[in-house]
Amino acid sequence: MSDSAAPQLSPELPVEHLIACHECDLLMRKPNTGYDERVECPRCGFELYTHRHQVVRRSLALVVAALLLYVPANFLPIMRLNLLGQSSEDTVWSGVLGLYESGMQGIAAVVFLCSMAVPLLKLLCQLAVLLSIRLDLGRSYGLLLYRIYHHLREWGMLEVYLMGILVAMVKLADLADLSLGVGLFCFVALLLVQAWLEVSMAPHQIWQALAGEDVHAGD
Ligand SMILES: [Zn+2]
Repeated sequence: MSDSAAPQLSPELPVEHLIACHECDLLMRKPNTGYDERVECPRCGFELYTHRHQVVRRSLALVVAALLLYVPANFLPIMRLNLLGQSSEDTVWSGVLGLYESGMQGIAAVVFLCSMAVPLLKLLCQLAVLLSIRLDLGRSYGLLLYRIYHHLREWGMLEVYLMGILVAMVKLADLADLSLGVGLFCFVALLLVQAWLEVSMAPHQIWQALAGEDVHAGD
């Protein structure tokens, strides 16, 4: 990957040829970049964007992988507990049900939203956006869904859930016989694939492709 500093502003440029630094507000002319080149602010060094090769194909593959991992991550056992001869298997879904049945309906709803519903909605929005670019179909809906995706981002809290699982494991390890389940590995894999997807699905290229400006994004 090579770096290129964004050129300084010259007068009489149309606004679509300009870019502002998110960190220090420096206004610059948008540089012409090759694939996998990183554009940095010349004043503060903030990474403005990276122009990625085959962004739609790569992101589609990652979204499909994440959706395949979603079901086992939520419905296969995260851990098995053996305590005084009694054993139990815990999944993300059974955790939500357990909270609901023990009278904590409010917390069950929040856990369900942040650990199951919103992550799934985010993935489905990303899939629909990428398909609308790839198939050149319904880009106005794609724009709407991509906006919704950006609003949902803060509400998907798989990382927080994973921290909760790790804390519970450390606490329970002294009390009971604990073994890790397949669900936990799928959950961690889902988290990693989602993080990779966030990096590879470069927002400026997706916005450009949805607006019909980046004709090569779907290649
Ligand atoms: Zn800057």
